[in-house]
Amino acid sequence: MTPEQALTDTRAAIDEARAQLEAIATVAPGTATFENTFLAWYEAGQNLKQVTNYVFHLHTVLGKKDMQQMMSRIMAEATAYKAEGLHATRIAQVLRESANAPWVKELSPARQRFVQQTLQSMNDSGLFLTPEQQTRKAAIEKELSQLGFRFTAYVQNARHQWQLLIRTPAELAGMPRGWMQMAEGGGKQVSNDGQPAWLINLTTVPAAPVLRYCTVAETRRKCWLGTTSAGTDRAYDTEPIIKRILELRHELATILGYANFADMQASRRMMGCGQKALDFINDMLQKSKPAWDAYVAAELKRFSQACGKELTEVNPWDVEYLNRHLPPERSSFNINVITPYLQIDKVVEGLMNIWAGLLNLHIQELPTVCLKPGESPKPGVVETWHPDVRCFSVKDAVTGKHLGSFYMDILARPHKRTQAWCLPLRDGNPKSDGSLGEPHLAALMANFTPPQPGKPHLLNHGELYMLFHEFGHMMHMMLGHGELRAHCTAEVERDFAEMPSQLQESWIWEPEALATFTCHYATGEPLPDHLAQQLANTRGTNPIEMHIRMLCASKLDLELHMHYHDKCKDRPIDEVAQEILGPWLFPYTEQPPSEIRTLTYTMAEGYAAALYTYKWSEMLAADAMTRFKKEGVLNPSTGADYRRCILERGSSIPAMQQIRDFLGREPDSAALIERYSQHTP
Ligand SMILES: [Zn+2]
Repeated sequence: MTPEQALTDTRAAIDEARAQLEAIATVAPGTATFENTFLAWYEAGQNLKQVTNYVFHLHTVLGKKDMQQMMSRIMAEATAYKAEGLHATRIAQVLRESANAPWVKELSPARQRFVQQTLQSMNDSGLFLTPEQQTRKAAIEKELSQLGFRFTAYVQNARHQWQLLIRTPAELAGMPRGWMQMAEGGGKQVSNDGQPAWLINLTTVPAAPVLRYCTVAETRRKCWLGTTSAGTDRAYDTEPIIKRILELRHELATILGYANFADMQASRRMMGCGQKALDFINDMLQKSKPAWDAYVAAELKRFSQACGKELTEVNPWDVEYLNRHLPPERSSFNINVITPYLQIDKVVEGLMNIWAGLLNLHIQELPTVCLKPGESPKPGVVETWHPDVRCFSVKDAVTGKHLGSFYMDILARPHKRTQAWCLPLRDGNPKSDGSLGEPHLAALMANFTPPQPGKPHLLNHGELYMLFHEFGHMMHMMLGHGELRAHCTAEVERDFAEMPSQLQESWIWEPEALATFTCHYATGEPLPDHLAQQLANTRGTNPIEMHIRMLCASKLDLELHMHYHDKCKDRPIDEVAQEILGPWLFPYTEQPPSEIRTLTYTMAEGYAAALYTYKWSEMLAADAMTRFKKEGVLNPSTGADYRRCILERGSSIPAMQQIRDFLGREPDSAALIERYSQHTP
């Protein structure tokens, strides 16, 4: 695929999509069928989606200049085409009228569901609004996007610009010499008066060590203020931006027919409405309360011992300093001791074997080649974009049916996007009725450390976790099949999308699973039982404070998006946050400004009124894991149920039904609560 070919393909796909839309817009009343309305609407633009997926993918994995330039052109043409909104109002009318036609009631359940899904997504895109409402909606969206950028810039600038200049070394008593030299160097650059000066900031001379080592409480207090006050100072105060964003989001939701923004966000998710999400978070907070209270009491006791007096609250700038003088609270199992047992090839092979066995699949590696321009591949050899890339086919172990194929490109290299992710390249539709259908195609990407000459190629525990997590997404992408291609993807309700990945990452903590892929690079021995057991115990020591912090952020996110007018509009945001989260705040002598002031996830990115999804999918995954723990983590009949009830179904039925079918009951938070409670002091 050359950049020029990509542009040609994009233009052809746009022309094709235009013709498809034209055809739907001219469907005469009385001649409408599912195929020439709803299905045609779905198919229009599928080829465009595919070609832009390919280009986007190659751009993120290669970062080549010619591809980057071409990608900008292609994306600009694709965006311009979408902005045309060709026949949008007319098509919305055709589809809405068709939805009321008598034939809709005769459709299969999957098709009826698709009709409803399409209408709701059209509603949320504003296609049923009056022209005046559409103009207002566009203006709100434009302003929201500008506000999001400004919010992010304010947070970044505030962090970059905070600094503290110290004039007397006595104020920095206790600081290590290396740090002092760094601070002095920074001080010289900033103060031009020739007087001694030591600089502290959040980038080059970090404030964090001051909180740990400095014996002067006042200096620690100033640094604590610096690390927590981003988004509060006059130049970069994010409060007015937050309030405007909340106000506009509320207006947008009302225009589209929702009571509030949280309802709008939850409407196409498992939760259905904001209140249900809030009920879930409140319930989790209540159930976690005993563990949280025990944790707070134990912490206060430790700090009291360190100070030699009874404390009922603690200065936030003393916490790190006191911790330094106290014995570690939790057993400190060093997770890196398992690295020598994680040889990359053995782990990948083990990963495939575990899931092939559990899901009754045949996963086979295919020969690959990375060609130079002008060369063509031999038959049966898969072309890739880089020699590191491997390719696998996934077949049903019983019928031999080809369900999908995926590329695996997991080593870091220059110009590749960072982190790990899975991307569907082509949505397949492998029919369940024995006809051929079309297999899925996807890519699993990561940035693991490449091999070093003369050294064994090992993974660390974080990389192991990422690999199993992403493979959960991959199995979800490979196995969907059913009546409609639109339902065969892993694009399920967004608060369910992380469930298979969070479930499948659990296997890296299970001794029985570890035994199948760990192998010491020098001795060839599997991970010894005592290390496997210690590793399994480590999972139980998930810090309760992180759990509560996430629940608090989710609660605040929902409350603000549901109750902007009655709770937030005319009051300081920190006061509102304290009121909402009061019982869950650690007893500090002074509370830091609310986290919402810097929370780009919910203010500027896609997690508005949706932070709860992290805990929700974690809960579902922990609950689903109880079945595997009970029946065996390598038990193929449990795996077969997981495949049948969840992975195969894509979005053809509601996710809540999928999880109910797998569990044989309603989902329950007990397993997750236990995970956070069992190792609390
Ligand atoms: Zn994920």
